[in-house]
Amino acid sequence: MKHLFTLTAIVLGLVFSLPVAAQWTEQNHAERFEQLGPMLRSPNVYRTASGAPGHMYWQQKADHEIEVELNDDNQSIKGSQKITYFNNSPDALKYLWIQLDQNERAADSNTPKIAESSINPRMSLRQLESILWHDQDLGYKIHSVKDLSGNDIPVTIVKTMMRVDLPQQLNPGEQVDFTVDWSFNIHDRMSFIGGRPGYEYFEKDGNYLYTMAEWFPRMAVYSDFEGWQHKQFVGRGEFALTFGDYKVKITVPADHMVGSTGVLQNPEEVLSSAELERWNRAKTSFDKPVIIRTQAEAERLEKQKSKDKKTWIFHAENVRDFAWTSSRKFIWDAMAVKQGGKDVMAMSYYAKEANPLWEQYSTRAVAHTIKSYSARTFDYPYPVAISVEATNGMEYPMICFNYGRPDEDGTYSDAIKYGMISVIIHEVGHNFFPMIVNSDERQWSWMDEGLNTFLQYLAEQEWDRDYPSRRGAAHKIVPYMQSERHLLEPIMTNSENIIQFGPNAYAKPATALNILRETIMGRELFDYAFKEYSLRWKFKHPTPEDFFRTMEDASGVDLDWFWRGWFFGTDPVDISMENVSWYKLDNRTPAQKKADQQKEAEREAYHISQDYNKDDIPQTVVEADPATRDFYNSYNPFSVTPEDEKAYKEFMDRLSQKEKDLLNSGLNFYEITFRNVGGLVMPLILQFNYTDGTSEVERIPAEIWRLNEWEVTKVFAKKKEVKNIVLDPYRETADIDESNNYWPRQFTPSRFELFKSTGGVRGASMGDNPMKRARRR
Ligand SMILES: [Zn+2]
Repeated sequence: MKHLFTLTAIVLGLVFSLPVAAQWTEQNHAERFEQLGPMLRSPNVYRTASGAPGHMYWQQKADHEIEVELNDDNQSIKGSQKITYFNNSPDALKYLWIQLDQNERAADSNTPKIAESSINPRMSLRQLESILWHDQDLGYKIHSVKDLSGNDIPVTIVKTMMRVDLPQQLNPGEQVDFTVDWSFNIHDRMSFIGGRPGYEYFEKDGNYLYTMAEWFPRMAVYSDFEGWQHKQFVGRGEFALTFGDYKVKITVPADHMVGSTGVLQNPEEVLSSAELERWNRAKTSFDKPVIIRTQAEAERLEKQKSKDKKTWIFHAENVRDFAWTSSRKFIWDAMAVKQGGKDVMAMSYYAKEANPLWEQYSTRAVAHTIKSYSARTFDYPYPVAISVEATNGMEYPMICFNYGRPDEDGTYSDAIKYGMISVIIHEVGHNFFPMIVNSDERQWSWMDEGLNTFLQYLAEQEWDRDYPSRRGAAHKIVPYMQSERHLLEPIMTNSENIIQFGPNAYAKPATALNILRETIMGRELFDYAFKEYSLRWKFKHPTPEDFFRTMEDASGVDLDWFWRGWFFGTDPVDISMENVSWYKLDNRTPAQKKADQQKEAEREAYHISQDYNKDDIPQTVVEADPATRDFYNSYNPFSVTPEDEKAYKEFMDRLSQKEKDLLNSGLNFYEITFRNVGGLVMPLILQFNYTDGTSEVERIPAEIWRLNEWEVTKVFAKKKEVKNIVLDPYRETADIDESNNYWPRQFTPSRFELFKSTGGVRGASMGDNPMKRARRR
């Protein structure tokens, strides 16, 4: 409805009353715009208030020399390693903590004990197996821990952690060398035990494919912000790892192909002359991969099964971990990628079961990922980047294990193809977060998964304009944000305590960053700040505070409200356009004023009887006394009088030209009341569609909510007349209820299925009732 209002006096003192009832059902000031302050760790000499490493920043270092042998006959592995641990901290250390991840699968592991289980009417064998207690011999056997003189060092094993009690305390600036000898049985990762490392057995040709990760005792992180990170490994919360240099000798059956973190030191000893020639050719092939071991060669080796051994030597510098893969089934291809003034080798290892998909896409996806991520962070610093087909998805420095296998006849769906490319982009992308920007995964999954999923989304969109990205765009997080409150945790929640892990640790932070970039900060400010965070923390250990602070520090945008809402809170976005009133300025010309008054009076006087009377008053009554009727009709209370004209002239004479222009501007004023139904404050993005067919978008920063977090009113002055208004027209804010985003309200159809009961058991099943499913949502 249109209202008129009067310009009183000279200034725009808008005086009118409104029927908007402000009802404070909740505490108005819930601190959505207060600075995070005490919710964050205090800045100090190690980490500054601007989010950068401080002037006394330090981190530990651990170098490894490892000799390891894979036994393909009984699927076991044994290794001996020397660790050199550098204490760069200002603290004297009496003991060191080492991670024994294999013990997650040991008989006394807490992992199966703390997993909930229940009996369902329909259960897979795998589900049942996971309930049964498994006491297979899969944990570490630690044979010895010794100093370099061969003296035993006492250790205490606490499930997946081991305390090494040093003979004498390790002072600041000192280093200590010690050796660990160990072995374990490799597990079948395709079984109910699952997990990232392990083997896959191929029944048809009787061969194994090993993905060796979390395979050696690894140093825990000792840091300024947490001391020792020795929270138990129970399967999900990933790793906190120390940077160091690695020299690793891997002995495997002579016909195996080995892919590994690091650079192969002895290609002449382990590759055939043909493979060596192709490998050297791949180093200058920038446009397409060179196949170094072909499918035909791999298939031949599958049958022969050599009993000889070969030792592959790899060196890696400044890595936080080391993983490798080995199988005689492997096809290997590689191509070179120019990156930051040097050449990186992008490579793939896969069995014939992964073709033709893998030879087509894998190495190209690796190359694309390196380029896309480098542009937004820093030049990929490592010499190789490897993708291995292993029916899963897991990342390590320079090497990752991915999925994507066609059907047996070699055909594949788009879902498999894009799923494979997405996983490769994601896992190769993890080189940046957390392999290089080395956050504590045991505590925070979002710091690597969220940031990585965000960059994955950008890389996917660059790979293919219409790439079917699963995560990233704002509206994709809506189903998660619509979850019932007890199924939601803040992003700032420890890995192990998250119910819906994918949406919480991957999708929500990725969406939040995308919203920051597209809607809150803009691409230029966001990209600069995100890159600054990457540069500040590459090859270091950042905390959430360092990320939050750097994003603000480098952009000049106060984002505390955003971190509070999106990272520390569980509220969804649901902003409702509650009420829209349309006002026109009363320009006070007597003619206009009287005409409006007349129109209003007529509108007020109208009643339904008038319509009925038209045809229903007896003719005798209508014609009774025409003179009387004419007399009354000649009086017009809405005609302009000389007094009206005089008052108008006096009023106009008092106005300046600027004020007169304003008065005659003909502006339309739209007063809109917004209600924060969801709780998460966001900008107001409004599309005004005008009666002349044009439209305009106006953006109001989220800070409009700072004085009233539940309801705000704002007036928009428009030259044109508005036909309708849409809130969040580009679906940028992840609003979980868009039905209240339209003025006038629009009906959006929800679909429901009709189904006809078959009368049988199947048709009557509750689970098949689409109406019930819809309600549950
Ligand atoms: Zn990931």
